[in-house]
Amino acid sequence: MIDALGRNIDYLRISVTDKCNLRCKYCMPEEGIQHVSHDEILSIEEITKIVEIFKNLGVKKVRLTGGEPLVRNGILDLVKNIKDLGIEEITMTTNAIKLYDMAYDLKKSGVDRFNISLDTLDRWKYYDITRGGDLDKVLKSINLVKELGIEPIKINTVVMRNFNFNEIDDFVKLAESGIIVRFIELMPIGEAIGKSDDYVSNSEIIEKIGDLEKIKDDGKSKVAEYYRNSNGAVLGFINPISHKFCSECNRVRLDCKGNLLMCLHSNKSRNLRQPLRRGEDIEKIIVDEIYRKPKSHLLLEGNFNNRDMNTIGG
Ligand code: SAM
Ligand code: SF4
Repeated sequence: MIDALGRNIDYLRISVTDKCNLRCKYCMPEEGIQHVSHDEILSIEEITKIVEIFKNLGVKKVRLTGGEPLVRNGILDLVKNIKDLGIEEITMTTNAIKLYDMAYDLKKSGVDRFNISLDTLDRWKYYDITRGGDLDKVLKSINLVKELGIEPIKINTVVMRNFNFNEIDDFVKLAESGIIVRFIELMPIGEAIGKSDDYVSNSEIIEKIGDLEKIKDDGKSKVAEYYRNSNGAVLGFINPISHKFCSECNRVRLDCKGNLLMCLHSNKSRNLRQPLRRGEDIEKIIVDEIYRKPKSHLLLEGNFNNRDMNTIGG
């Protein structure tokens, strides 16, 4: 579907749960999230119904995220349902803690690719930033995903000056092994509000790495700019703050409670769960919302989202 500004909305990102088995310091409060009653969460069948409507409106790609999508009950059924609807590409963003045990079944059910979040290659730093995570599980998952031929694997790394800025070269080496590493600027959202000391712009990282050549834009990626180093490492840079990609934004978001968000950085949303349960025409609501998708975010003007990232899924 084309929105009022001519953008073709063909990408739906779904946060299937706001629960997580980690507590990354910039994303989740230490005590976790407030308990939400079962009734307030979209069922697997309801999510499937909403995806079907989006499919009919022209959505071709669905990303499942969270919270941690692999802790959601029924995730394999959901993937299978979405595949059966004929969605062209299903991807998943995961912390990969449970991926080792689930990768084979996820592939069989229809996941085409994984983005794996990993901010450090040091065991203790990983334990610290995730408040208890086991790096070995993530590395084992990455190897398995590779063995299963689910490629390309993308690693998402949020760069923080006082945490992992000194590991950039290690991530470049990881990328030289054939994994695409994407550096993400820390966004001032939820738990990360007020952590501006840790913010590093991608242009600073590009300068630090040095040996990089920009890869020609194939028109596929709206959010990342890709570079290659002389050893063939492919590195992506996601700059939500310093470079706006709003004019090309092709995505909308659905959270696990059924809130439809037109922009990651907006506090505005429209709930689909209640009208869906009342049997109302939610296709009309979705079309109205897409038509009103904002022109751009207002982060540079200080207009930050006060939701934690785990509720929206990144
Ligand atoms: N739990 C899954 C994971 O970690 O991959 C999916 C959800 S997580 C919210 C999605 C992505 O958002 C992760 O790569 C995470 O690092 C990123 N993220 C969370 N908070 C962020 C922030 N304040 N700024 C930039 N990225 C953030
Ligand atoms: Fe969980 Fe992902 Fe947030 Fe970390 S970034 S706390 S893994 S939702």
